[in-house]
Amino acid sequence: MNKLPQEIVIVGGGTAGWMTACYLARTAELMANNSSVPAPAPKITLLESAVISTVGVGEGSTPYLRHFFEFLEINESDWMLKCSATYKMGISFERWTTTAESKTTRPAFTDSDSYFHPFFSSLDIPTADMYFNAVNEYRKGASHDINPSHYFTAAHMVEKGITPDAICSSANIDYAYHFDAGLLGDFLKEYALNKGVSHQIGTVANVECHEHTITALKLDDGNTLSADFFIDCSGFRGLLGKQALSRRFTSYADTLFNDAAVAIASDATASPETALQTRSIALSHGWQWHIPLTSRTGNGYVYSSQFCTEAQAEEELRLALEPDQSHQQARHLKMTVGRLEEHWKGNCLCIGLSQGFIEPLEATALMLVQYALHHFIDCWQSNNPRREVRYNSEINRMFDGIRDYIAAHYYLNTRDDSAYWVACREDLKVPDTLSYLLNAWDKGASFEHALNEVDNKLVYLRPSWYCIFAGMKRFSNNTTPLAQPNTLALRTMRQSVEGAHRVRQP
Ligand SMILES: Cc1cc2nc3c(=O)[nH]c(=O)nc-3n(C[C@H](O)[C@H](O)[C@H](O)COP(=O)(O)OP(=O)(O)OC[C@H]3O[C@@H](n4cnc5c(N)ncnc54)[C@H](O)[C@@H]3O)c2cc1C
Repeated sequence: MNKLPQEIVIVGGGTAGWMTACYLARTAELMANNSSVPAPAPKITLLESAVISTVGVGEGSTPYLRHFFEFLEINESDWMLKCSATYKMGISFERWTTTAESKTTRPAFTDSDSYFHPFFSSLDIPTADMYFNAVNEYRKGASHDINPSHYFTAAHMVEKGITPDAICSSANIDYAYHFDAGLLGDFLKEYALNKGVSHQIGTVANVECHEHTITALKLDDGNTLSADFFIDCSGFRGLLGKQALSRRFTSYADTLFNDAAVAIASDATASPETALQTRSIALSHGWQWHIPLTSRTGNGYVYSSQFCTEAQAEEELRLALEPDQSHQQARHLKMTVGRLEEHWKGNCLCIGLSQGFIEPLEATALMLVQYALHHFIDCWQSNNPRREVRYNSEINRMFDGIRDYIAAHYYLNTRDDSAYWVACREDLKVPDTLSYLLNAWDKGASFEHALNEVDNKLVYLRPSWYCIFAGMKRFSNNTTPLAQPNTLALRTMRQSVEGAHRVRQP
């Protein structure tokens, strides 16, 4: 097993920097525990600037984050309490298909134009198969209930306000979290410092390189920081990889138009603990996020600056909030969408926003941080001479696979209330995998076969693709959907959640 580099410097103290510090410190600890030969622990230093702030957003996760805390051996209740966290069972997509026409001729399967994208559990296996069959039959003109909310455990828990911690451990439920990004950073920092990570404040003024190798960092106070290995967690700046080493960047801007966001916090909603979902609500030039935390609600508007100014976006978001909340201060952000071609080369690894960003629609950025770290350790420990090439190709596959699924939301919208939504359908460069799936779906070909054909490119699995195509109502027939079915498999799924639900003590 290869030891970690002896001296590691992480540049950046945002969520990516502190996640990296925790992950490496824990890895070093486990390696030491499993080794029969005592070896010095690697020296890990995290450098952050006092004058360059963190991005300060990123408050929703995917279920993958649970494994991160398990790896660190941190109890869920400990970190959740300290980070104002709540559970998340999925995302509700609202008004992405609202059109004047939809009110009259298209089948509306809910009373509003919305659908729920759930996290899937092993409990869903029988009902998911029912769902795929129902959707495929519906595509052929048969009348079926094709609302994903009626088939999946997560949706049922949202409807009933049943939190995962209230279910006995026998029920295998997958779920994620919402949390306060600043508090999570503080929590991870404390963990990392306790595991021996050094914390240094300073701003990098110059990166010294010899060909593709970083030799030292010059700080603006005149000090120099050297190490064997450098990890770039400097955010959108991409100080080491993008700037100093001129690593090539593949932009997603022709596929994903959003490049800006405005965030406004508001008071916590009533019972945020049982809200259990992120809401993604389409607005005129993008979408609004609504994230329930125990201390406040996170709101934001992700939009395209080609179609709307900062002032217009802020005004529209304020109008969408409750009147008594709209006096809160707004924070404007710019986003660069795309990814590096080489995330790891020689003695520099890029993690977090410095390696790329898709956009926050499915809250996947921290999942990518975690995956990039996990996969790095795997590759580092292998003695494969092509380990960097394999690493970069797998990380690029992940980024592109997520990009494909995010792009589908925009392409499948049916709104006609602004040039932005029309452009998302008509001008968006449709990635190859998405184009293949769309073609099969629209031609009435077997969707199962199509999904199998591109399986190695997909990050989102079958249920997600069925949910988005059906949820966005990509149907050519006008068959009226049936009301919620009440089969044995569905009753069993619902009962197993409700039966395992412990009554909460007041
Ligand atoms: C609008 C928006 C919404 C998002 N929502 C989600 C979400 O719901 N879920 C999710 O998973 N992700 C989300 N993200 C992404 C998420 O916010 C980031 O992935 C996460 O915060 C990690 O950021 P980071 O640590 O890479 O960069 P940052 O937070 O920007 O940190 C950069 C660090 O580098 C340091 N630095 C920079 N330059 C220097 C220098 N010269 N010298 C020394 N230090 C330097 C800074 O001081 C800072 O500490 C969202 C992003 C945006 C823009």
